[in-house]
Amino acid sequence: MEAEGTPPSEALRDEYEQLADLVRKYRYAYYQEDSPTVSDAEFDELYRRLEELEALHPELVSNDSPTQEVGGEVSSAFAAVEHLQRMYSLDDVFSLDELEAWVRKAEASVAKLGDSVPPIAWLTELKIDGLAVNLLYRDGKLVRAATRGDGTTGEDITHNVLTIKEIPRELSGSGYPSEVEIRGEVFIPSKAFVEFNETLVAAGKAPLANPRNAAAGSLRQKDPAETAKRPLSMYVHGIGAREGLEAKSQSETYKLLEAWGLPTSPYLKVLDSFEEVLEFIAHYGEHRHDLAHEIDGIVVKIDDFATQRALGYTSRVPRWAAAYKYPPEEVHTKLLDIAVNVGRTGRVTPFGLMEPVKVAGSTVGMATLHNQDVVKAKGVMIGDIVILRKAGDVIPEIVGPVLALRDKQDPPVREFVMPTECPSCGTPLAPAKDGDVDIRCPNAKSCPSQLRERVFHLAGRGAFDIEALGWEAAIALTQPAEPPTPPLTSEAGLFSLTREDLADVLIRREKRSKGVGTGEYELVPYFYTKGTAKSPSKPTATTEKLFVELEKAKKQPLWRVLVALSIRHVGPTASRALATAFGSMEAIRNATEEQMAHVDGVGPTIAVALKEWFAVDWHNEIVDSWAAAGVRMEDERDTSMPRTLEGLTIVVTGTLPNFSRDEAKEAIIIRGGKASGSVSKKTSYLVAGESAGTKLDKAEQLGVAVLDEDGFRELLANGPAEPGTEADVPQDEASAEAVSE
Ligand code: NAD
Repeated sequence: MEAEGTPPSEALRDEYEQLADLVRKYRYAYYQEDSPTVSDAEFDELYRRLEELEALHPELVSNDSPTQEVGGEVSSAFAAVEHLQRMYSLDDVFSLDELEAWVRKAEASVAKLGDSVPPIAWLTELKIDGLAVNLLYRDGKLVRAATRGDGTTGEDITHNVLTIKEIPRELSGSGYPSEVEIRGEVFIPSKAFVEFNETLVAAGKAPLANPRNAAAGSLRQKDPAETAKRPLSMYVHGIGAREGLEAKSQSETYKLLEAWGLPTSPYLKVLDSFEEVLEFIAHYGEHRHDLAHEIDGIVVKIDDFATQRALGYTSRVPRWAAAYKYPPEEVHTKLLDIAVNVGRTGRVTPFGLMEPVKVAGSTVGMATLHNQDVVKAKGVMIGDIVILRKAGDVIPEIVGPVLALRDKQDPPVREFVMPTECPSCGTPLAPAKDGDVDIRCPNAKSCPSQLRERVFHLAGRGAFDIEALGWEAAIALTQPAEPPTPPLTSEAGLFSLTREDLADVLIRREKRSKGVGTGEYELVPYFYTKGTAKSPSKPTATTEKLFVELEKAKKQPLWRVLVALSIRHVGPTASRALATAFGSMEAIRNATEEQMAHVDGVGPTIAVALKEWFAVDWHNEIVDSWAAAGVRMEDERDTSMPRTLEGLTIVVTGTLPNFSRDEAKEAIIIRGGKASGSVSKKTSYLVAGESAGTKLDKAEQLGVAVLDEDGFRELLANGPAEPGTEADVPQDEASAEAVSE
């Protein structure tokens, strides 16, 4: 372990040199080739380590250390130009604690300046994920545009910058200095990036990996005509040399820049306290994907120019600004393998198994690849280093391979081949019909994977709602490591399970040390505790809960039983409609296709799916075994409930204070009404809660009567009032018609 004050050991010097070389190499790929070979997160970590070593051993720092330079060079493809005033990078901080430490230090430095400067106002801006450009205007005319380069010398990209329509060739208004350098960020707006990638894919070209590198690559094209095709945009965020500019602060300058026709960001704020800065950070942390462009953090600047001048710069960054970086959403990791999963309907889905990495706050080791066409389109091979992206709550996605590293992989990368047999049961796989991209395992009855998915589904909240039967329990019931014959070989047996059936079930589980997986596996009992000589094994609390919940599940209403059966296309809406129309499983089983198709909310496709499902023997066995075990197969019609809503179609939207959506629907159905999901001319009433959206607009357009919760209660209790009575005073002529229709 290295310690402060002691001379660095040989090994530490070696580590330092290697690190510095790596940082230089990565910077070259990032700035010069616009094609990074490591993720920003990984780069930042290496860079931090370098800073840490230098802080402990200042004698290691040389003038050409990467920490002393703004990271970029000038490529020979462009003419080199000297900036009139140096361009800097920003001091990065990676946690709110670090930001607070930075703020307190800046406050202390400003306090030392006494009354010569005003109290600190924090100019707080979004850190746009693009690349810095320096625009030079002389007498209001754009005469030069350059990349940041090493901060002193940049690359002349004037012709390319002239293709960006947001950047004025000539400043408008008056009062601009005779010579002024304006700095800003060139970026590709998120929507334009997606659209541009779509055109690339349609033309058979590889999509660009991310907007930042795409913007940098686009701006550093040799042919401006090529740059002109890219949807580049810009916001200004700074000012360099400024001959005769009167403004006292940066925010004041932005107002001037805006008046001269330059694009300023609409998102910035001048804030008085650190607490407000924290709120700003939290707000955009939550809304970063609602913005027009990508951001990777928030920049906090001291607004006042006199203070900025007094604090000055290090060799790399200003002392009056810092960049707080959000947790990374894009990381690189190794794609160890592509395996396939067999879903509830037998669909076979490839998914990537990766070296687990932390991204957007969670650890990810797997990501779906949807089907073999997607694997091909992404161009990933097993063994590749891949870009993995997880934006906020969005499901993690493998973006594509880092091609520059493909040749370096050991063992060499190999292509993914879709299996021809089901990995779970060995049955030959086939598309459901000719031309389907998806292939399926046709062994629906006993393929353990399909059964596991169905069991997991039937326990879900929208079906039997059995909390103790989660994903791991579904595995333990249908494909345990031991015994070879699992407790369930069909969901038919679910309600006849006994404790004894579960006593010997073992599952394979990764050993953990201090909460982290060790990569080693062991067999452990799932439903029972580990027995010892003194205390014999017994069902766990979760197992006992499972039996209690199975008993409760038997009393669930008919529509939930229908959902639990995993019939194609039959979700909660169709199930409710069927249960209301037929009242019992027997009546549904015996109904003709036509009778079912006529039920509102069912239709011909679902009717065919139902008929096909009931034509299969083992499906009927499930229904019969569940019925024999006591599962309710008939809805008790509540005769005490007045059928006040007979013949009415009611839509519920928005949030009601005292009804969940399900409760409202149930209240409608048990009173003989129809709960529909969309507003049409046939809708009798729209019940609109808070944040009702387009349905409310549509109801108003069509003149459908709209009720709030009180009106809804009134309707439930008494049904529609006779036209003309007080309870049914229409809101306008149109709704009067709709009610009496
Ligand atoms: P930086 O991106 O951390 O911050 C400085 C830059 O932020 C400025 O030059 C400016 O262009 C930009 N910026 C955006 N919005 C701004 C605003 N509102 N106000 C002021 N400036 C704003 O620093 P950098 O030196 O440009 O780049 C370093 C970063 O680049 C690293 O932290 C890393 O994430 C990434 N990088 C990655 C690799 C890699 O291999 N993946 C290599 C080198 C650098």
